[in-house]
Amino acid sequence: MSASTGTLYIVSAPSGAGKTSLVKALLDAQPQVRVSVSHTTRGIRPGEVDGVNYHFVSREEFLERLERDEFLEHAEVFGNLYGTSQRWLEQTLDEGYDLILEIDWQGAQQVRRLMPQARSIFILPPTQEALRQRLTNRGQDSDEVIDGRMREAVSEMTHYVEYDYLIINDDFTHALGDLQAIFRANRLLQGTQQQRFAGLLEQLLA
Ligand code: GDP
Ligand code: ADP
Ligand code: 5GP
Repeated sequence: MSASTGTLYIVSAPSGAGKTSLVKALLDAQPQVRVSVSHTTRGIRPGEVDGVNYHFVSREEFLERLERDEFLEHAEVFGNLYGTSQRWLEQTLDEGYDLILEIDWQGAQQVRRLMPQARSIFILPPTQEALRQRLTNRGQDSDEVIDGRMREAVSEMTHYVEYDYLIINDDFTHALGDLQAIFRANRLLQGTQQQRFAGLLEQLLA
């Protein structure tokens, strides 16, 4: 068990804005950060791995887990159910890792109520055209699914005002730098540093 608990981060964005790519790049560079693997009833996409991208479950299994109170939050997005496992989340934070939840705005509202100390980040695309282009380029969803996600995008984006931080993902490297800056600055907060450098502070103030 680490001396200090990690920080909980919520990352939301309209589908295709680049949240999964940015979070993956952040994790590659920062070993103390982990991402929660949600449960979902959505079908698995080509290239996705069960237990890595999501825990892919049937609607029946999802509802059983919900009944057992296993989810910290859950929501229906684009007709599929998504939920965050509470047990794994608490364990990871207690081990001292910073933890990212890649969840939609409805889940974000639930988590903020339960864990007001969570920091939240909203990612926007540079234009609506770029958003559609990214969904098309990703090559994992049908035209029908892409049309549905584009229809939802504007109403999802209106929720940006509920978040602490806003990142425009135009140039990927620039956006990744912005995301890294948020994590770095939060780790420098006085209260966090006080726990981390308790021994040093004791010596300095002796
Ligand atoms: P993608 O965002 O285009 O990669 O599509 P997904 O099907 O992976 O995710 C669709 C939406 O569900 C996104 O807005 C996610 O943020 C959201 N989502 C994923 N996991 C969870 C979860 O555990 N809880 C909630 N509330 N939303 C989730
Ligand atoms: P989300 O998880 O928000 O749905 P993804 O991370 O899957 O989005 O990104 C959607 C697509 O856009 C992917 O093919 C990704 O490689 C691409 N992408 C992400 N960021 C950028 C960017 N800044 N410029 C161009 N393409 C991007
Ligand atoms: P299962 O999905 O079969 O219950 O769990 C498979 C593995 O994933 C186990 O190691 C379990 O602890 C872990 N796990 C279960 N639920 C979650 C979750 O929601 N998020 C994460 N990150 N891990 C989970």
